[in-house]
Amino acid sequence: MASFTSAGRLTLITGPSGVGKGSLVKELLQRQPEIWLSVSATTRDPRPQEQEAVDYFFLSRERFNALQQSDGFLEWAEFAGNCYGTPRQPVEEQLSAGRPVLLEIELEGARQVRKSFPEAFQVFLAPPGIEELESRIRGRATDTEEAIQRRLARARIELLAKDEFDAVVVNDDLQIALLELESLMGLSH
Ligand code: ADP
Ligand code: 5GP
Repeated sequence: MASFTSAGRLTLITGPSGVGKGSLVKELLQRQPEIWLSVSATTRDPRPQEQEAVDYFFLSRERFNALQQSDGFLEWAEFAGNCYGTPRQPVEEQLSAGRPVLLEIELEGARQVRKSFPEAFQVFLAPPGIEELESRIRGRATDTEEAIQRRLARARIELLAKDEFDAVVVNDDLQIALLELESLMGLSH
């Protein structure tokens, strides 16, 4: 697929489940309101505080498959038993309008974006250690034991891929990780 030429810059953040991507992105958006965050589609069930069209577009498998087959996703992947995808059209519109666009997605999706948007800036968020990652996933208390085990197994694989990325940020202290990310994105603090 041809790469999409645009005025806005596309930044992508990946990292194992529970590393703090959501927490970091939330703080980044509060400080940098010009950034547009893509809302993904997923077949997973909403967590208690999650809102439709804010956290995700929660879709049935059938609806997700239909969108995928009509080329409606910029990228998509299966993760821990559910499908996740980035709706293509809004991302292209925001980039055309010159807005900085942020994607928060997993590894397979990041690899697809690397092919379709080679100019995108790809950041890997790493935990200070695997034990700390496990305690963050457990501390979030949103997943079943089976889901936790699947996410940890996947985390070990994702961590091996960190050198594929343009930059690695370690999320030990969230505020320090935030400053590092802002610097990497060329944003003022
Ligand atoms: P992700 O979006 O990568 O799955 P979350 O943002 O949901 O991760 O964070 C997972 C858990 O870890 C949450 O309970 C969050 O409050 C906590 N957390 C995030 N960053 C840090 C940090 N730097 N130090 C300690 N706990 C953190
Ligand atoms: P969660 O279920 O914890 O919200 O997300 C699970 C994983 O799916 C996370 O690593 C998250 O970054 C990733 N993810 C969220 N949206 C997308 C998406 O649109 N595409 C891909 N490939 N991964 C996504």
